[in-house]
Amino acid sequence: MSESPLPPKRPLPKLTEADTAEFWKRTRDQQLSYQQCSDCDEIVFYPRHHCTHCLGNNLEWRTASGKGTVYTFSVIRQSYHPFFRSRLPYAVAWIDLEEGPRILSNVVGLADPATLEIGQSVEVEWEPHEELSIPLFKPVSAPV
Ligand SMILES: [Zn+2]
Repeated sequence: MSESPLPPKRPLPKLTEADTAEFWKRTRDQQLSYQQCSDCDEIVFYPRHHCTHCLGNNLEWRTASGKGTVYTFSVIRQSYHPFFRSRLPYAVAWIDLEEGPRILSNVVGLADPATLEIGQSVEVEWEPHEELSIPLFKPVSAPV
């Protein structure tokens, strides 16, 4: 009698990285966050210590709605990492959030990821873990 092996685990971000720790802590409460500069109003994403527009450091955290559209995507068909290999094929996409930030993530919930389209409306779907959640995206059907 043999035991079945444990499924491979997703590699997770570390909560000790100074610039991104706050972003990941907020994902525990399923908040998809970005920064906005209090000096020049520029939206800053991914999380940083300073504004990429005026170099000021008065950045405030904002919470995105989680809604966006696919800017572009690729279908991944091979991977050497056991976790990602277990999910093949899958879509990696740049998502334009409605507030402005562009985030790299996966679009899940597609029987065939190659059917994803640029401009597809998507919304965040959280994959919860002990200390953080991973923001993934799923297609939103267009109203008929
Ligand atoms: Zn600024």
